[in-house]
Amino acid sequence: KLNSYIDIPGVKERTLVAVKPDGVQRRLVGQIIKRFEQRGFRLVGLKMVQVSEELLDQHYVSLHKKPFYPSLLRYMTSGPVVAMVWEGHNVVKSTRMLVGDTNSAEAMPGTLRGDFSIHVSRNVVHASDSTEVAQKEISLWFQCSELIDWECCDHGNIYHP
Ligand code: GDP
Ligand code: MG
Repeated sequence: KLNSYIDIPGVKERTLVAVKPDGVQRRLVGQIIKRFEQRGFRLVGLKMVQVSEELLDQHYVSLHKKPFYPSLLRYMTSGPVVAMVWEGHNVVKSTRMLVGDTNSAEAMPGTLRGDFSIHVSRNVVHASDSTEVAQKEISLWFQCSELIDWECCDHGNIYHP
């Protein structure tokens, strides 16, 4: 039955993706969303936000001691960010592959960073790096009421039982 929701482990996995201020300024939001849509992932949350330093301190909790942290804060608060939650089978891993290496020079052509950036300090997009971190980041950036559990009409063509 093509359109029934089937129980494939990991289909409900979710990740946080954010188009950073440079990506918004450079009008890359549409192209970035397109890559997730065409892959077959389900968009369950989306908003534009002017991020606070308080949120970033929690979001980047492992980076506080890095020498680049003050400039990372300035970068991430320099303009609006477009935050999204994407869902699907292995979405965390697949998204990291789609986004590409943190260091733009190491990011493969075809990845978002490999196609749209040349320096680590302006690398266009954020993506959670594990399922545990994804859950933490999603609850930091989104209220439960902002996440919509809608039914995709093509689900049965994306997931074969
Ligand atoms: P990510 O998970 O691939 O985004 O990489 P990290 O979690 O290691 O770092 C978070 C973000 O900090 C990166 O995406 C960059 O925007 C920034 N960043 C990381 N390393 C550097 C660096 O060496 N210099 C500068 N300026 N920014 C960095
Ligand atoms: Mg990271």
